[in-house]
Amino acid sequence: MTQETLVTFGGVIKRFGDFVAVQRLDLEIQKGEFLAIMGSSGCGKTTTLRMLAGLEAPSEGQIRLGGKPINDLPTWQRDTPMVWQSLALFPFLNVIENVEFALKMRGVGAKERRQRAENWLERMQISEFATRNISQLSGGQRQRVALARSLVVEPEILLLDEPLSALDAHLKVRMQSVLQNLQRELGITFVYVTHSQSEAFAMADRVVIMSKGKVEQIGTPQEIYRAPKTRFVAEFLGSSNIFSGRVSNQGMLETPIGTFRLPEAEAERRKGQNATGVVLDTRTELGVEKPQSDLNFTVAKVVGEEFSGATATVYLEASDGSEIRVQNSHEEIGRLPIAPGQELYVSWRPEDTHVLSND
Ligand code: ATP
Repeated sequence: MTQETLVTFGGVIKRFGDFVAVQRLDLEIQKGEFLAIMGSSGCGKTTTLRMLAGLEAPSEGQIRLGGKPINDLPTWQRDTPMVWQSLALFPFLNVIENVEFALKMRGVGAKERRQRAENWLERMQISEFATRNISQLSGGQRQRVALARSLVVEPEILLLDEPLSALDAHLKVRMQSVLQNLQRELGITFVYVTHSQSEAFAMADRVVIMSKGKVEQIGTPQEIYRAPKTRFVAEFLGSSNIFSGRVSNQGMLETPIGTFRLPEAEAERRKGQNATGVVLDTRTELGVEKPQSDLNFTVAKVVGEEFSGATATVYLEASDGSEIRVQNSHEEIGRLPIAPGQELYVSWRPEDTHVLSND
């Protein structure tokens, strides 16, 4: 991926009356990157995308595309096609006519139009449906037509708003890899809005997590997973093991349920402050015996147990009500006396405690 900025949001605010849907957004999107914008319903994802497409005007701030301000550029003059969940394919045109449509609007001649449309049908493996009506296609086939229709104009950037949410789980996974391969192969910048963590993390180079119109964190899936910045992000990603306390002069996070060692840099910076830590549950140990160290463990009561595939998850509650989750193999979990109310020791690796910024 080249490090060249394609889109810049500079201090962009969007208000609807008194309501602020997007709060001062600063974001750079690189050329050729797959960027996912993720967050719960109503957090401002679609509004952000619509501003980029020219379907909403920012109330304040500037959006640039390829270095040029585009705030005042009408939608049809922007090179920012959009694929929606609802697809908006034209029901009165057949498959190939739908794909040709944007080329026709741009004044491309009939012969070239047909050739380019056929090429995209082939690429999306839907050539056999060229003359079918849209109503005679399955959900997955329609998705491919919608993609072909957007990509036939060879845009620099493609905006996708929950494009897979209408598909069943199996097809969703298949279309995820179609999209990801296509994006890599063509090197087109994708901006992909979704509320699904698995979709965003599976496909994107970088993820923007939004809440209530505000960006909570931007980073690669791994960065975000390994180091969630705020409690919102940690909880949104489904993290448990979130403990609040005070950082001692020795740099330990002292909480009502146990004392945790912090990474050196954090320990130094946070001495004497209140802090919230999330202990990443990558290698949590569960046992009946008290661990030898006085750090990085707590006692918790079993609340329940769940089995899925190769692993089992035990849900526990610490003495202050904090939720703890431990995932391990059936074999490991099977060795323990798991029953509701049973007290067990939960211990973590010292390097897995990560401090959240003050919300
Ligand atoms: P979802 O996942 O539900 O689509 P979203 O994160 O995409 O949510 P947006 O559609 O961007 O959310 O909406 C952000 C907020 O702005 C919501 O509270 C919504 O009700 C509000 N909003 C969006 N469009 C308008 C509008 N035209 N007029 C007034 N309020 C609006």
